[in-house]
Amino acid sequence: MSKIKSSESVKVVVRCRPLNRKEESHGPAGGIVRMDLGLGQVILRNPRAPVSEPQKTFTFDGVYDASSKQRDLYDESVRPLIDSVLEGFNGTIFAYGQTGTGKTYTMQGAWMDPEKRGVIPNAFDHIFTHISRSQSDRQYLVRASYLEIYLEEVRDLLDPNHATARALELRESPETGVYVRDLTSCVCKSIKEIEEVMNVGNQARAVAATDMNEHSSRSHALFLITVECSQPGPDGRKHIRVGRLNLVDLAGSERQAKTGVQGERLKEAAKINLSLSALGNVISALADGRSGHVPYRDSKLTRLLQDSLGGNAKTVMVATLGPAPQHYDETLTTLRYANRAKNIQNQPRVNEDPKDALLREFQTEIARLRAQLNHRKWSSKQKKEQVEGESWERDEDEETEGEDEELEVEKDAEDYVKLQEQRLEREKEAIRDDRFMLAEEKQKLLGEKERMMGDLRKEQEATEQLTAKYKAMESKLLVGGKNIMDHTNEQQKMLEMKQQEIADQTRTEREMQQQMFVQDEETVELRETFTSLQQEVEAKTKKLKKYLKLYAKLQCIKAEIQDVNDEHVRSRQELEQTQNELTRELKFKYLIIENFIPPEEKNKIMNRLTFDTEEDQWKFQPLVPAESKSSQMKKRPSSAVGYKRPISQYARVAIAMGAHSRYRAENIMFLELDMTPPNTASLERSTEPNQSTSGDNSPTKERGGVRKSRSWCQTPKSITSSSSNVSLAACHAATPTAAQ
Ligand code: ADP
Ligand code: MG
Repeated sequence: MSKIKSSESVKVVVRCRPLNRKEESHGPAGGIVRMDLGLGQVILRNPRAPVSEPQKTFTFDGVYDASSKQRDLYDESVRPLIDSVLEGFNGTIFAYGQTGTGKTYTMQGAWMDPEKRGVIPNAFDHIFTHISRSQSDRQYLVRASYLEIYLEEVRDLLDPNHATARALELRESPETGVYVRDLTSCVCKSIKEIEEVMNVGNQARAVAATDMNEHSSRSHALFLITVECSQPGPDGRKHIRVGRLNLVDLAGSERQAKTGVQGERLKEAAKINLSLSALGNVISALADGRSGHVPYRDSKLTRLLQDSLGGNAKTVMVATLGPAPQHYDETLTTLRYANRAKNIQNQPRVNEDPKDALLREFQTEIARLRAQLNHRKWSSKQKKEQVEGESWERDEDEETEGEDEELEVEKDAEDYVKLQEQRLEREKEAIRDDRFMLAEEKQKLLGEKERMMGDLRKEQEATEQLTAKYKAMESKLLVGGKNIMDHTNEQQKMLEMKQQEIADQTRTEREMQQQMFVQDEETVELRETFTSLQQEVEAKTKKLKKYLKLYAKLQCIKAEIQDVNDEHVRSRQELEQTQNELTRELKFKYLIIENFIPPEEKNKIMNRLTFDTEEDQWKFQPLVPAESKSSQMKKRPSSAVGYKRPISQYARVAIAMGAHSRYRAENIMFLELDMTPPNTASLERSTEPNQSTSGDNSPTKERGGVRKSRSWCQTPKSITSSSSNVSLAACHAATPTAAQ
């Protein structure tokens, strides 16, 4: 079941970091990025262009300049999204930008400093505070996973064997969409626990970073949080809502040098930004809105973000910029990218009662354990009361009413065990003290009591284990409303609500200003009424000014088109260069294959290869399909009817004649025909008895063909060497399949 909400666009905000010391030391030029916080505009100056050239202006849902605080960005642009996730929407926040512009700073920040904590730690606080303040009839289950995509391979950062583990596979199901198979998912009960998960993953990333050059700027990190919430609906049944939050720190968006590398390095270079360029293509296709095909399947990242871009999710993109003049090109590219992303439309909806909700499984399991436990305790209580001789007249429905009663039952069960133990001890004492009983009988009775005691203990242990399991299971579910009566908390909540209101107002104000700005331009014409010549002149001047403005705009757009063209030419050249490198590589591989791998081996290999689209790799099929293995191995070739193996005609005749012991078993020969007439040396040799094989092959005496054939098959003395050659060759020609 899902509630359809109208579509909404991806929110795009831009953040510019302050100039760093190194950039400041470059000169007094200052930054090239100016921001109008009120209008949400970024104004970019081209440091290489003449002053007369108009500056480029872009408008976004929010802009944050160098002096902006982490909290500002969170409250204004992220908080509403996390609130939606807590209501059961899917949400994604991704940071995009050149390396060193503050993606990681924005997403994670400095954990120790409350002022500098980024989006992720603030989201942790937000989620768990929300849960502790929600009503007590709600149950929550929070899970976290952490993965990274490096060189188009998905790796689980929470796997202890992260460095050596196999890359994970992506799978797709109609219910949950694309997911990562076998990804570790940790249930988190507090902020501390989820922070621990984050730290474990970050450490795994840091280890990888020391092994590989520029690892962190080339890998995409995805932190996934799933919040499941169960709440009684109007129908009295419990309904579950599942919100999934993706927190994505993308690889640096700068162009990677792809030219002049070969082999493994080339492969690596081709893969480095595959995900990022695929992301660009997906954004372009979605923003364009006309092209039906969106290439999500081109990369792992786009497949994982499929829901976030054009799907069932609310998405915020934070584009990060650096203000330094030397990065003008990259900054402009980032702004264009961000500008395009604004046009993407998503259709977010609440995920209600999905089939795969883990919370439901937990609830069922807890209920089962609880029933088991209750059953045990009640039966103990009943036994106790029987022991004490009390009558039992309660009906079953009353059993679970009230916590006091439950406690009483638990106490009774414990008492029963103690009483039983005492009783058994007493009975054992009595048996031991009984002087009239035979020693053998005493032993037997004592043994029996001992066994009863053991049973009792086992039962008690089983109950304890069950209780522990039940408690562990129950503790994973978070129940709302624990702090609801807390006064300070209430005040804090009010304060946050007010802050949220202010943030909302700022946002609305900015939107209104943006609208006014647009309307201003449009309404100028409407106000024009001519009452006098003077007014007409004024109106014409205004119009002229307006045309001048339009002209300036036109120039801007022309420059923009030129820029875009240049960029396309540049990227095309790069692609061509990569293609050339790849072609050269391919030719190199072909050369090896054609010259050093026998054609039949090549064909065999080619026939076994199949392309696995899931893993985007060529794979070998097994040599013999498992099920038909035995039948294929045992099959006798048709040319060997009556024999173990195919056999030549000559050998058959020889066997029939019984001429030579060699042919009593079947034999197969491969002979090459040498038509040169025998010379004296060969005649001499052929008449020599008991000649050795190695001596025959001597290349100084004659060419290999005939000699070799003789060494394989010593002809009987009655047949001359030349006639044997001919007849053997004839046999060979008659049964070509016999050749080995
Ligand atoms: P990225 O992840 O994009 O490669 P980082 O987040 O590592 O970049 O940032 C690079 C440096 O810039 C870090 O030292 C970081 O502290 C600093 N930095 C980034 N953004 C800001 C900001 N808004 N305010 C202050 N310092 C920042
Ligand atoms: Mg980073």
